[in-house]
Amino acid sequence: MTTDTLVPFGAALERYEPVIGLETHVELGTRTKMFCGCTTTFGAEPNSQVCPVCLGLPGSLPVVNRMAIDYTIRIGLALNCTIAEWCRFARKNYFYPDMPKNFQISQYDEPLCTDGYLDVTLDRDGHGGSDAGGPQAEGGSIRTVRVGIERVHLEEDTGKSLHVGGATGRIHGAEYSLVDYNRAGIPLVEIVTKPITGTGADAPVAARLYVTELRDLLRSLGVSDVRMEEGSLRCDVNTSLAPRGASQWGTRTETKNVNSLRSVERAVHFEIERQAAVLDAGGRVIQETRHFHEDTGTTTSGRSKEEAQDYRYFPEPDLVPVAPPREWVEQIRASLPEAPAKVRARLRTEWNVSALEMEAIVNAGALELVQQTVAAGASAADARKWWLGELSRRAHDTGTELTALPITPAQVARISALVAAGTLNDKLARQVIDAVLDGEGSPDEIVEARNLAVVSDDGALTAAVDEAIAAHPDVVARIRAGKVAAADVLLGAVMKATRGQADAARVHELILERLS
Ligand SMILES: [Zn+2]
Repeated sequence: MTTDTLVPFGAALERYEPVIGLETHVELGTRTKMFCGCTTTFGAEPNSQVCPVCLGLPGSLPVVNRMAIDYTIRIGLALNCTIAEWCRFARKNYFYPDMPKNFQISQYDEPLCTDGYLDVTLDRDGHGGSDAGGPQAEGGSIRTVRVGIERVHLEEDTGKSLHVGGATGRIHGAEYSLVDYNRAGIPLVEIVTKPITGTGADAPVAARLYVTELRDLLRSLGVSDVRMEEGSLRCDVNTSLAPRGASQWGTRTETKNVNSLRSVERAVHFEIERQAAVLDAGGRVIQETRHFHEDTGTTTSGRSKEEAQDYRYFPEPDLVPVAPPREWVEQIRASLPEAPAKVRARLRTEWNVSALEMEAIVNAGALELVQQTVAAGASAADARKWWLGELSRRAHDTGTELTALPITPAQVARISALVAAGTLNDKLARQVIDAVLDGEGSPDEIVEARNLAVVSDDGALTAAVDEAIAAHPDVVARIRAGKVAAADVLLGAVMKATRGQADAARVHELILERLS
C-alpha cells in the first residue's frame, strides 16, 4: 500500500532537525452534553442519547454546560495557562454527515485558556521503545523538556460514522454508512502545543511521553476517563523536518487520530524517516493530513489540509460570551490536586526507589495499585514485587489490564502480611494469588480452606525429614563426610513431600540435627 522510500532514523537525524507538535482532543467526563441535557454514557444503543439540540433541528437553541467550562478551566490552570476573562464560541463551518448541524460550535480566536506549559521528563536513556534505536543514547540521563501549550479550547464532538460492507472499514468500498449521533455534542477539549524543538532523536519518545504526562494529569484532575482505546483521548501528531542549521522550519504533516501511546511514538518515527527521504530526493513535503496504520507502523496520505479560511469561522450568535468570574477561577485553582509529576517525586522518596524503578511502576500501570497496597499496610518493596512480578505476568498472560485483575490492593497487602509473618512462603503465596484470581475468596479463607499455611511444627516436619533421610543413604553419607551443601537435596525432597508447605529454614536445621 505504501511505496514510500525511507531514510534510516539515525541517518535522517544527522541531516535534519525534527519539529513536532501535538493536538490532543479529550472528551470531558461531564454527565450531560456540551449544549443540551442529553446523557453521555459510552456504548449506549446508537442514537438513543440525542435531542433536537444535538441533532441540529431547526429552532433548537444551545445552552452552555457550566461543568464543561469548570473542567476546561481546571485543565487550563493545571497546564499553567492564562484563563480568559471573556471569550466567545465560534461556528466552524463544514459539511460532514456525522455533524448534523453542518457546523461545529468551537472556539477560534478567543480560546478559554492560552499560553501554558507542561514539563515532560525524558529518562529513557535513549531507548524509549523506539525500535530503530536512535544514535544518541545518553547513558540514562534525565532531561526535562518544557512543552509550551498554545491553547486549550472547548468545542463539541461529532457523531460517528460506521461504513459497512467494505474490507477496510473506510468509506471507500463500503456498501452503505450508518451514523450514530450519541457522541455528537459531547464536550471536547482541544489542547494544542506550541512547536516542540530541540528534541532531536528523542522527538518520537518526547511525543509519547508528552501524551502520557498529559493523560496522567487529566486523569488526576478527574475531568475525563482518558481512554485512548475508547476514543476519549485522541491525538493528532504534527511532524516536520528542517535541514540542520536552517533558519526556517519545514512543512509539517498532521497524522490524525493516533489512538495509542506507542503509536504516537511510531508515527513521529515513521514521518521522520519518510520526510527525510522526500527531502533527500530534492522533493517537497506536502502539507496534508495523514492516516496512521497500526499494523505496519506507517502513515499514508489523507487529504490536503484545510486553511482556517475554509471554515468561515464567525462568532456563534446563539450563545452568550463566557466570562468566568475571577473568584470562580481562583476557587478552581485552590482545589487542584497535586500534579502527577509531584506525586511521583514524593512517592520516590517515600518508597526509596530510583527513577527507573518508578518508571517501571508507572509503565506497568501500577502506580495507584502500589499506592493503595502500601496504604493497606504492605511495604513498598513487597507491593512492587507482587504487582510488577506475579500479577503483571498474570495480566499479560490473560490479556487484561493490571487494574482489571480480580484481586484488590488490600488482598495483596494481606498476602504480603502472611508472608512476613511466616504463615506463607512465596510459593504458597503464589498459590493463594491464583485462588483469589479464580474467585475462591479472600486470602485468609483460601489459606484455611486449602490448608496452605507453612508447616513449621517439628512433629510433622521430623517425620518428613526422617523419610527423606531413609530414602537417600548416598546423600546422607556425603553430608556425614562433611559435604553440608548436600543437605539441599534432602531439603528438596521434604519440600516436595510437603507440597512446598514446609518451613524451609526449620527443615534445614532439622536435617543437620538428625545427622549430627
Ligand atoms: Zn441533545
